[in-house]
Amino acid sequence: DHVRDLFAQVRAAGRVELGEIEAREVMAAYGMRLPDSRLARSPEEAAEIAKEIGFPVVMKISSPDILHKSDIGGVRVGITDPQAASDSYELIAYRARKFSPNARIWGVLVQEMARKGREVLVGVSRDPQFGALIGVGMGGIYVEVLKDVVFRLAPLSREEVREQLRAIRSFPLLQGVRGEQTADLEAVEDIVLRVSQLVSDFPEIVEMDINPLVVYNRGEGVIVLDARIILQ
Ligand code: ADP
Ligand code: MG
Repeated sequence: DHVRDLFAQVRAAGRVELGEIEAREVMAAYGMRLPDSRLARSPEEAAEIAKEIGFPVVMKISSPDILHKSDIGGVRVGITDPQAASDSYELIAYRARKFSPNARIWGVLVQEMARKGREVLVGVSRDPQFGALIGVGMGGIYVEVLKDVVFRLAPLSREEVREQLRAIRSFPLLQGVRGEQTADLEAVEDIVLRVSQLVSDFPEIVEMDINPLVVYNRGEGVIVLDARIILQ
């Protein structure tokens, strides 16, 4: 199957980490929704792809050696025209060369810009003794500050995931505060269950995270904006 082949290719290349481009393929194979994206290899190509995807777009460095893209200034959101797409390619590639001189650069991913929603993270870390722990919490820029993540041991049932979500301190933010609508909790549960299935299918996954998973209002679903996977 496709995921197995992909993991074998990554290993054959002497790597154990899958960044966004490769991890996206795994998420897609598990039925998750992702923004339309294509890899540009030049500023001109970035402008072309951006036109095809439709503005605004997001652009992100694509390198097997850069897993935390924002850390090197490798993510730009809200790009609204072809000239800005071409300029962003130059800028992102320049920053990558400057801040990570030895990194192999595949190009720049040009991506559909998702509308705003609530940002959640779903993570996995495998404990050699107990197995895969799946964490869920509020994601985005507050992750490190809030440390508000609840872990449960895979494989998880829908009931366990429901309870897990409700154990997050910031759960009221998902339920909606001050007249906000409730987030699509069922769609979040689906993602956690798919992650649980994935790590059960592939015990060689030692770590992974989806961050952010953008969650819309009830009935509107979720979308995976970034993911990475680390193999044993
Ligand atoms: P990093 O490798 O730094 O985690 P991300 O791909 O998560 O890079 O991008 C950083 C942030 O940019 C995300 O947390 C999200 O807020 C925003 N972002 C990323 N992709 C998109 C997108 N397609 N649409 C809208 N916002 C995005
Ligand atoms: Mg991210």
